[in-house]
Amino acid sequence: MITILLGVGCSSFLPGGTSKNTIKPIEDGLVVESIVQIQDDHRSIFAALPPPRSPQGVVLFDAGDSADESNPILAFLTENELTTADVSHIFLTHEHQSHTEGVALFPDAEVLALSEAAPEIIQQGGRVDTLLEAGEKMEVGPHTVEIFSMPGHCDGNSSFLFNQTLMMGDAAVAYMDDTIEPMEGNATSIQSLSSLSDTFSQRTHDVEVILFSHSGPIYGVDALIEYSSQP
Ligand SMILES: [Zn+2]
Ligand SMILES: [Zn+2]
Repeated sequence: MITILLGVGCSSFLPGGTSKNTIKPIEDGLVVESIVQIQDDHRSIFAALPPPRSPQGVVLFDAGDSADESNPILAFLTENELTTADVSHIFLTHEHQSHTEGVALFPDAEVLALSEAAPEIIQQGGRVDTLLEAGEKMEVGPHTVEIFSMPGHCDGNSSFLFNQTLMMGDAAVAYMDDTIEPMEGNATSIQSLSSLSDTFSQRTHDVEVILFSHSGPIYGVDALIEYSSQP
């Protein structure tokens, strides 16, 4: 498949740590399309605020590394005159505990994760209420969410298209020159990102912005499309 060939091609210049450029720093408090980036150490939690007067709760993407007062979601909720009970859904991008520990702060929220990620999350003492499958599209109140399997960073890794925001999670990071690379240079990660790139090259109007757990954002979809057309 062309995806695989392109992926192998990408690996030849993948830096594996010594980047050709600098990773875009996380912008703590960045607001894009009613989604707020909340820095949690070197990673991020994203909180989608409901539309005004909507009965929909706050939707979180990942929940952070801690289930105590050090979790930055709590201060964020307080600043917005919200409580933990206002969080209705938590989409987990993958099974790493640094992204899932905070779920315990939200006993009433529905926790959703890819079926490949759930066993390990549960084994770690975490919780998953709803299993997601690759390719699934769902409605969460006024929002639409589409699920993409992105193995490589770990087996249960996923990305989400939330309305017109692509939540990349740990599948990739953005660089200062507005290029996108997988978090790791392994062949599976490269293939996942190439495949996503190919998908959105056919759907250029579906993505307004791309958000990453471990970096700042990229606006528009061009950088993602260009990933799989690199030499
Ligand atoms: Zn991770
Ligand atoms: Zn991470």
